[in-house]
Amino acid sequence: MEFFDFHHHDFDRNFGIYNLKLNEEPPENFFSAGIHPQAISENIEADFAWIKEISKLGNCVAIGECGLDGLIKVDEKLQEEVFEMQIELANELNKPLIIHCVKRFSQVIRFRKKAKVPVIIHGFNKRKSIGDELFKNQFYLSFGKSVLYNVNLQDFLKGFPLDQIFIETDSADFEIKELYQKVSELKNLGLEDFTLKIKENLKNLQIPI
Ligand SMILES: [Zn+2]
Repeated sequence: MEFFDFHHHDFDRNFGIYNLKLNEEPPENFFSAGIHPQAISENIEADFAWIKEISKLGNCVAIGECGLDGLIKVDEKLQEEVFEMQIELANELNKPLIIHCVKRFSQVIRFRKKAKVPVIIHGFNKRKSIGDELFKNQFYLSFGKSVLYNVNLQDFLKGFPLDQIFIETDSADFEIKELYQKVSELKNLGLEDFTLKIKENLKNLQIPI
C-alpha cells in the first residue's frame, strides 16, 4: 500500500506533493510552487515571475504553500498582496491552493472567497472552533504529526468529513503510515479503505494519481 504525503519537503519522496523551494529545479514527481510568506523579499517580482512559469508544468499540482503568518516580521499588507497574487494565479491555472496560516484564520477565510479552486489548509492543528469555521467555508484540511498525540485534534478529526481530509508529514520526521493508521482508526475505517478514500479526494482536486 502506498501512502500519499500531501505536503512534504523531501525532494526524493516519490508519492506525494513536494514543496518546491524558490528557484529550485523541479522534481519529476508532483510538486507545489508558491511563495511562503516568510520567503517574501525584495526579489518578489522576479520570484513571482518564476512561480508563474514553473507552475505551468503538468506535475505542478498545486500553488503553495502560500498564505498569511502573524508571527513573522514581513509587513502584513505585503503578505496579503502576495497571497492574493497567488490566489489569482491558482484561479488562472485551475490548480488548488495549499495554505500556510499562522494566527490569521479570519483573514484567510476572507481571501478564500476570491479563490475559484479547492483550498487546503496544510498542517491543521488548531482548536475545534477554528476547524468548524474552516469547514463552514469549504476548506479542505491536511493533517500532520500533531494528530498522533493531540487528543482534541483527534476528537475534531472524528467529526470532520472524510472527503475533505489529506495527510502529510510536512518537515517532520516520522513514518506517514503511522498517521494513516491513526486517522483510519479515528474514522472507523480499515487502513486500505481509508487510503482509497484519500486517493478519491486527490482525484477531486484533479491530482492525477
Ligand atoms: Zn511545509
